[in-house]
Amino acid sequence: MKLLESIREKVVAMDGEQDEFIQAVDEVLESLEQVAAKYPKYVEAGIFERIVEPERQIMFRVSWVDDNGKVRVNRGFRVQFNSAIGPYKGGLRLHPSVKLGTVKFLGFEQIFKNSLTGLPMGGGKGGSDFDPKGKSDNEVMRFCQSFMTELQRHIGPNTDVPAGDIGTGGREIGYMYGQYKRLRNDFTGVLTGKGLTFGGSLVRTEATGYGLCYFTDEMLKAKGNSFEGKTVVISGSGNVAIYATEKTTELGGKVVALSDSSGYIYHEKGIDLKLVQQLKEVERKRIKEYVKHHPDAQYHEGSTGIWNVKCDIALPCATQNELDKQSAETLVKNGCIAVAEGANMPTTPDAIEVLQKNGVLYGPGKAANAGGVATSGLEMCQNSARYSWSFEEVDEKLKQIMADIYKKSSEAAEEFGQPDNLVLGANIAGFLKIAEAMYAQGVAY
Ligand code: NDP
Repeated sequence: MKLLESIREKVVAMDGEQDEFIQAVDEVLESLEQVAAKYPKYVEAGIFERIVEPERQIMFRVSWVDDNGKVRVNRGFRVQFNSAIGPYKGGLRLHPSVKLGTVKFLGFEQIFKNSLTGLPMGGGKGGSDFDPKGKSDNEVMRFCQSFMTELQRHIGPNTDVPAGDIGTGGREIGYMYGQYKRLRNDFTGVLTGKGLTFGGSLVRTEATGYGLCYFTDEMLKAKGNSFEGKTVVISGSGNVAIYATEKTTELGGKVVALSDSSGYIYHEKGIDLKLVQQLKEVERKRIKEYVKHHPDAQYHEGSTGIWNVKCDIALPCATQNELDKQSAETLVKNGCIAVAEGANMPTTPDAIEVLQKNGVLYGPGKAANAGGVATSGLEMCQNSARYSWSFEEVDEKLKQIMADIYKKSSEAAEEFGQPDNLVLGANIAGFLKIAEAMYAQGVAY
């Protein structure tokens, strides 16, 4: 459609160097062609032009002092993309690769993901090119305090509620929350993923990985299948990968491979999760250390090699564009029946095409990994009510939300003539709610 093409051209003209953002916009606009034809009122109200432009983009200097007394400078970002249905909500990524375009792609995806959860949360994302790896706890603390000293003026429990992402786990959230509270003298749930002793929710740590498995289970069930007896490969070995491994195992699958940015491990008899948690969560070591404890396991340099491991189900849970066309072809050749994304945009567009053409069930990140933000939404509810639910209560709500997301996405795919195309379904189902809210609120922003 001409309109969507011209919007894309404008985005490229303005931000052509932000390739990840363009990739995310392309995927969504492509899915919305029929929506634009069916709802001319959204075209007239400029919803499509407006939705690709962030409401606000904040960039700031973060200076801090390392353990040797040297001054270090990083760049901080917060992109407040869309607040049509609620306060901005989305994580903070701390990784040397973070640029404005990275944060924009993640923030854009977050709009639709948050909408799919059914909870009142707008879309935003932030982060910094700071690398927590190899830094002492004190250095991480000083960075987080400096980062929050600026960020605090832009956020608030009814304005913008950040959370974790790559490189931002419980330790970082704790330091940031402490600094926020000190500066604002305000004990509100302005960050989610907090520790359980100061307003965190049970299941938040596990939520993205668990939610991914609940979603994948729905996808499999719809085809009369399940995790039972399946061999599963999961990339990454961080928060999402660890709890996806735990839930996969609980649901009867066997996880045989995990990775980090240096390489991957293969353990035919099944990954020893307790050991991975000790190495990654407690000792913050590399995944290759695993084979020292399990000589029957193998370590291979290079993280993308993980997709050569034969499996029934693949769950990419590390980072964007980690599963390319060639890897998708290998998965198909090896008989993989389902791919569901724990990470954001881990599968390249040509790889998605290969999977879909070959009938592999494919669950896009904005639907499959929405369990993390959904549980953050539940943390916000508990903070507002000054109350906390039990593990079972939160887990049950999470399970229900993931089942609803699957249902909404597959029904929209069906309605728009491409049953099983969950990319199309998730984009449309997420978009329609936002579009209606933006339409109702007029064009003043
Ligand atoms: P963590 O920092 O806990 O773990 C990230 C994992 O991915 C690590 O094993 C890391 O390896 C690996 N990784 C990171 N960058 C690369 C890279 N460039 N190449 C290969 N491997 C890499 O992050 P999370 O588990 O929280 O996040 C993983 C993914 O899930 C991200 O895409 C994130 O946006 C997404 N996500 C996370 C949510 C959450 O609640 N945490 C919610 C929804 C989505 P190494 O240690 O070597 O860097």
